[in-house]
Amino acid sequence: MNEADLRDQIAETGAALYQRGYTHGSTGNISARCDAGWLLTPTNSCLGRLDPARLSLMSADGRLISGDPPSKEAFLHLAIYQERSGLGAVVHLHGTHSTAVSLLADVDPADVLPPLTAYYVMRIGRLPLVPYFKPGDVALAEAVRTAARLSHAVLLANHGPVVAGVGLSAATDAVEELEQTARLFLMLEGRNIRPLDPAQVAELRAAFPPPK
Ligand SMILES: [Zn+2]
Repeated sequence: MNEADLRDQIAETGAALYQRGYTHGSTGNISARCDAGWLLTPTNSCLGRLDPARLSLMSADGRLISGDPPSKEAFLHLAIYQERSGLGAVVHLHGTHSTAVSLLADVDPADVLPPLTAYYVMRIGRLPLVPYFKPGDVALAEAVRTAARLSHAVLLANHGPVVAGVGLSAATDAVEELEQTARLFLMLEGRNIRPLDPAQVAELRAAFPPPK
């Protein structure tokens, strides 16, 4: 996809996520690799009203080449691109349900959500929890870098998910699947649930391996 089309796709994706309540205010950010480096949504921008021409064009090492100043969370995206050469897009949201799950004290930090559905296993698989750091703390970038070696999707404690994909539609489908699975998980709180068993999960992972 050429850069102009990718800019349009980022703006359309932001509007779709915003209109359906996956993000609010000026929270969340979207990025995608392009020939010159990667495109990122600007700081203080609302995902519902992005101007494709004003997206921040970033170099491979995370410097602003052109466009509006980048999101203050650019370092999250940079850590994933530097760690995982096969991933082409990253979506970070403060989605209500996934953020609620990031507040639970009794989850497994190595893999926060159980394998409730096949689509969750296929699109997310494993979801490590990254400990809380205050906004702007560069230690968060290192923690995300470490977690991204294990999974293309991570959950930031007391903050929200960061989900990558081979391309922007894969990353968006995955972050939506995560938000809906978090919603199911919260709805089922206190109920006796029957997640997929290890053999069912292994069968899905063999047929739909996570992105490299
Ligand atoms: Zn954030």
